[in-house]
Amino acid sequence: MARLTLADLADLNAQFEHSDPRDLIRWAKEHFGDRLAALSSMQKTGCAVCHMLGSLDLDIPVLFVDTGVLFPETYATRDRIAEEYGLSVRTLTPELTMEEQTDQLGVLYLTPEGQAECCRMRKSDPLLAIAGEYDAMISSLRRSDGGPRGRTPVLSPDPETNTLRINPLVTMSDDDLSAYLEEHAVPTNPLHEQGYATIGCNRCTTPVLPGEPKRAGRWRHLGPWSQYCGINPTDMMAPEQLAIDLPEDLVDRVLGRSTDFVI
Ligand code: SF4
Repeated sequence: MARLTLADLADLNAQFEHSDPRDLIRWAKEHFGDRLAALSSMQKTGCAVCHMLGSLDLDIPVLFVDTGVLFPETYATRDRIAEEYGLSVRTLTPELTMEEQTDQLGVLYLTPEGQAECCRMRKSDPLLAIAGEYDAMISSLRRSDGGPRGRTPVLSPDPETNTLRINPLVTMSDDDLSAYLEEHAVPTNPLHEQGYATIGCNRCTTPVLPGEPKRAGRWRHLGPWSQYCGINPTDMMAPEQLAIDLPEDLVDRVLGRSTDFVI
């Protein structure tokens, strides 16, 4: 195995900075083959990525984390997208239902510490449960969402799942995203039209007022202490913490290093 850090990816990230998202997805498939999946929560950006996957027809599975307390509109969007674009969507679920969790641990999402624990159990752990099955995951983070996402790299190691995260939409603006969705008539979660700028669990998501930041509707009841669920390491970790271990030949191919087979 060989270590792959964010610093190792600096040249590649500079090279990919203005790449077309579809070219990045093709690059990912070429390098990771069947060890590549996409991660989508079926928000606008995730739907755009699903449209790209469908049009490229590269047989890349889509991972969808179902916390068990999502909005009915989110499940309907997942099913519609899967059918319309012929995608294989793999739904990942937590070990406990929300009822079982509440019986055992109480209502966690009412405090910042409890929210972190609840998000870990219901969002991060289901993804961690399949760690080792994939070497790379296509995500749909964008810098225009601000906060820590304002510095999201195109390629970033995810130490939690030991995968390389690929963010093909990272430079896409809100206007570009809207234009893409409109041009391709991509179905999106109808809650976006009802004031929900971003959409997570029904317990912790509300619409946002005009002029509010996009993420103001997430964990509104907890104030500014809770902003992210933790499923995306670049939201929570310092750049020097972002490192993974992959087979040496794969790291060489990703970095475009030639391997010297002469002993
Ligand atoms: S968003 Fe709320 S309900 Fe959903 S996993 Fe996190 S704390 Fe729990």
